[in-house]
Amino acid sequence: MSSVPTIVTPQSLIRPEIQALHAYHVPPSVGFVKLDAMENPYFLPQSLRQELAQLTADAAINRYPDAGAYDLKLHIRSVTNLPSGMDLLLGNGSDEIIQVLALALAKPGAVLLSVEPSFVMYKMIAAFTGMRYVGVPLTQDFSLDLQATLDAIKREQPALVFLAYPNNPTGNLFDAEAVRRIIEATPGLVVVDEAYYAFASDSFIPHLARYDNLLVMRTFSKLGMAGLRLGFLAGSKAWLEQLEKLRLPYNVGVLPQLVASKLLQHHDVLLAQAESIKQERTRLMSVLSTIRGVKAFPSEANFILFRVAKATQIFEGLKQRGVLIKNLNGGHPALADCLRVTVGSPEEDAKFLAALQNSINQLA
Ligand code: PMP
Repeated sequence: MSSVPTIVTPQSLIRPEIQALHAYHVPPSVGFVKLDAMENPYFLPQSLRQELAQLTADAAINRYPDAGAYDLKLHIRSVTNLPSGMDLLLGNGSDEIIQVLALALAKPGAVLLSVEPSFVMYKMIAAFTGMRYVGVPLTQDFSLDLQATLDAIKREQPALVFLAYPNNPTGNLFDAEAVRRIIEATPGLVVVDEAYYAFASDSFIPHLARYDNLLVMRTFSKLGMAGLRLGFLAGSKAWLEQLEKLRLPYNVGVLPQLVASKLLQHHDVLLAQAESIKQERTRLMSVLSTIRGVKAFPSEANFILFRVAKATQIFEGLKQRGVLIKNLNGGHPALADCLRVTVGSPEEDAKFLAALQNSINQLA
């Protein structure tokens, strides 16, 4: 029997919804003042770096990591103030946790709902996992549109809702009462994503025990550990023991476990850096609001969203002057002419501000 040869190509085999995606874009940044990814700009004190060097030199990297990350979880608990009875699940960054959640809840036809503009990975991971994504627009000042969100919840019956608190890329903290109303109205699971908790004035961790359908996700990326890739999900055992089944056994390596455990024992150092970043945010915000033609939006995170005429040209002007920020123009319509700058060190921010002013002057 003769068989017809079939040509196997990525296009013939890969799911169309994956082919339609654009990979998450990370631009090259070597040599730039890097203010595009919400990293902590500060180094650790020399003595602590020395301790880390010893610790990593002695690490058993020939062995698999502790799959349960027992020590690390104890250290996370000691700095997090979880309500009693609450458990933790660890991720290789919180991105991975978003994926675990979506994988778990992706029954055929299930909806993942979020607001827009918000963190782009919610929508991307909905596509990875075959969930139907619904994005409810925020209001013009980037607040929650509570009525529109409640209507969408009633209509779409989402299995999974993500609310970034504070929100990325807008930087604001949603009204807590509106978030509570959304949790109460949702027939599915609500995940409050507190990636920027270290810079914010409120948290839903104290409310975990009050709602059966609430989990809180955090990352240590913005607190000075972006390179370690470590995030966690906090919530009841009933949820987490199911989600644990989807976590790959060794997702947090030996070195991240050791280093993060050590750093969390020096949490005061990280918190002091976060405090400096908050003070610098206030200063940066006040200078930005004096620049003619710039409208900066309030922030409870370690970045500031601002609108400026000819944003893409300004973004390119900054790049030519050696400063890399994030261009949001051309993405979501609500972000027309918007740029996002991470709060850096005072020296980095001075370079950013000078480059911004020069780029604006050049285009005037
Ligand atoms: N959630 C939000 C709202 C974010 O902005 C980010 C990072 N940009 C993440 C989650 C993911 O962070 P990570 O994977 O570094 O933990």
